[in-house]
Amino acid sequence: TYNRTSSYPPNIITNLDQPKNTSISKIIHNPELDLKLDYIDSDGQLNELFFRRFRHHNEYPQYSTKDILNQNLDVYETYLNNEILEPKVSNLVRPPDEIDQYERANATFISLVRNSELQGIISAMKEVEKKFNKNFNYPWTFLNDREFTKKFIEKVQKNTNAECHFIRIPSHLWDKPFNIDSNREKEGIKYLINENIQYANKISYHNMCRFYSGNFYNIDHLKNFKYYWRIEPSTSYFTKINYDVFKFMELNKKTYGFTISLYDSPQSVHTLWNATINFLKQNLHYINKNPALDWLLYDLQNPHHNAITSGYSTCHFWSNFEIADMDFFRSKPYTEYFNYLDNEGGFYYERWGDAPVHSLGLALFEDKSKIHWFRDIGYKHFPYFNCPNNPDCEGCEKGSFSEYANLNDQNCLPTWIKYEMTDEQLNLY
Ligand code: GDP
Ligand code: MN
Repeated sequence: TYNRTSSYPPNIITNLDQPKNTSISKIIHNPELDLKLDYIDSDGQLNELFFRRFRHHNEYPQYSTKDILNQNLDVYETYLNNEILEPKVSNLVRPPDEIDQYERANATFISLVRNSELQGIISAMKEVEKKFNKNFNYPWTFLNDREFTKKFIEKVQKNTNAECHFIRIPSHLWDKPFNIDSNREKEGIKYLINENIQYANKISYHNMCRFYSGNFYNIDHLKNFKYYWRIEPSTSYFTKINYDVFKFMELNKKTYGFTISLYDSPQSVHTLWNATINFLKQNLHYINKNPALDWLLYDLQNPHHNAITSGYSTCHFWSNFEIADMDFFRSKPYTEYFNYLDNEGGFYYERWGDAPVHSLGLALFEDKSKIHWFRDIGYKHFPYFNCPNNPDCEGCEKGSFSEYANLNDQNCLPTWIKYEMTDEQLNLY
């Protein structure tokens, strides 16, 4: 139940019990608010709209931010209210009878974790094993900038029959690069602290964001793998997953899978969009023919974000859950993009997160139809959920985005649903 105000615009979508045969795209599309803006001209050039700080905001002056939010929450609620089970594709690979004979995809779990987070990682691992991996035995890879303790290794290994690898991250992939100007860094941190940005002062957090943005897939051990599923300590998994998610990615040609999409603190990515635009100006040919630009540029729900970032909505896939193909990140466009950003220093002068960096890379350089919302997977990382209306989903409130209703304006999924999902994707469950 969301906290809504009583004044709705007249054409808002409120009917939660649509007849079963109504196409989902009819439910979620409001003809008056369907964005029809093209950011790339037919000759492949980014046009003036692309560079505007506000785009849609100027097109729909009749709607207040509050009206828009209410409409968007309705879209989310209506969509999540549909009962779903698992993707309706004919190629789901079921748990094998003989697990030892099973030919797995080229995949591993990845968990960057500190020795002090032993309990948190064990609880996440137990759930993942119970809901999915006991049937498939995908190996686990644990990463740390320090040496894992004996105790950590012994206790973790007890929770799975699969192989576990404990890897110490080489310092050149983790530590702050030498070219970071410490005065500029101090100034940046001061600004972020002033703006109440979490972890502003924590160098290890900045290292972590940079590492997950551009370096993890280049660790020797991970070079052997194509797909990974990122697991964070103290996350929860609410649904049984009775098919091989990695083979789902492979057989259906998906690059990236997520469960939650939300807004970021705009101050933490103050100049990320400007840097991205400068990179794109020199590399126009890297932009995919089917990019997710409306999601990146949407400015109706939280326009103050676009004001602070010079135009980026701050919408991103929440990276504490990712099932993805590392070859995308190893590709030339993404590698050059990361190197460009790294050289700008924003992982330290600001607090660019791995989630917005991955998301910008994917939205710009990948075909959006290859980005998959695993909306069948019930998942929580405090304080947000993906909680599908699935009879088997236990432990979260179905259809809710957060325990705290005042955080509902942080949800970017309505924008993803409305503007980026193809009919095929909308009807996949
Ligand atoms: P939040 O989710 O953004 O609040 O950040 P977390 O504290 O959960 O950190 C994200 C991930 O990086 C988690 O898996 C942490 O265990 C891991 N992490 C963060 N900082 C460090 C660090 O300094 N060393 C190691 N080994 N892992 C870290
Ligand atoms: Mn976390």
